[in-house]
Amino acid sequence: MVDDMKIGIVGAAGRMGQMCVRQVSEWQGCSVSGATEVSGHSALGHDAGEVSGIGNIGVPLTADSEKLVADADAVIDFTSPAVTVSHANLCMRAGTALIAGTTGLSDGDEVALLEASAKTVIVRAPNMSVGVTLLLALTERVAGMLDDEFDIEIVEMHHRHKVDAPSGTALGLGEAAAAGRSVRLSDVKKTIRDGHTGPRTSGEIGFASLRGGDVVGDHTVVFSGAGERIELTHKAASRVIFAAGAVRAALWSRGKPPGLYSMKAVLGFED
Ligand code: NAD
Repeated sequence: MVDDMKIGIVGAAGRMGQMCVRQVSEWQGCSVSGATEVSGHSALGHDAGEVSGIGNIGVPLTADSEKLVADADAVIDFTSPAVTVSHANLCMRAGTALIAGTTGLSDGDEVALLEASAKTVIVRAPNMSVGVTLLLALTERVAGMLDDEFDIEIVEMHHRHKVDAPSGTALGLGEAAAAGRSVRLSDVKKTIRDGHTGPRTSGEIGFASLRGGDVVGDHTVVFSGAGERIELTHKAASRVIFAAGAVRAALWSRGKPPGLYSMKAVLGFED
């Protein structure tokens, strides 16, 4: 019999952190081994299960990241870029897997994760849901099948609290579309249109971000040609899909060799 996987949750009083505490507690084959919050947070000392609304699970929230990582087989992190990079370094030293869901990472942050993945398993995805992972694969495929006669635009909408734009998922979809066309997103990306912009440049990949209310996350990739348009859309109705994907990634990471993996690898969508 294999032991339950011990999973630590960083930022356990946050929106995603609470959802992850609930999911890890519900799933078979894993349990919450620790939960942290930032120093000074009002939830410190309270039970992580109580904070997430499922009742006491015997795991008090602490600010001790090193212990969280040392006690866990895998750590799930939906926080902020600096916090995720620091946990990548802790996980590298301890050999603990890291499931990194934080968005808005800079190129330097991505390099830090890549370096840490030389010594441990890191699963990195700006969107951990099954549906968006499939949308990424479809976007790459469709972009590769249609030429520049079809303009690619990516529209996303999120709740009013979101701090980064375009969303990490939208940028991921842009990367997928660019890969399908064998170009670099940085060469064709258009994130701002304002004022007298002139006509659209052929081959560019445009982004538009809407913010409002409590929208969990809507993404549409538009392929717009002369006289016809194809739209691939995903709508998230609950954050549970991201937390479930993160738990799935944590369970999948067991026994895998060090490396930087995507959700495509976790779900077996890789070619
Ligand atoms: P949130 O602000 O509700 O939660 C973040 C939590 O991290 C807060 O409770 C904060 O106090 C805590 N935190 C900050 N510093 C910490 C530290 N040093 N140690 C421990 N905890 C610390 O934010 P959220 O809505 O849960 O989103 C978090 C991140 O996850 C964002 O980048 C968001 O875009 C991303 N996200 C990714 C996915 C995905 O599928 N990959 C899905 C949803 C959200």
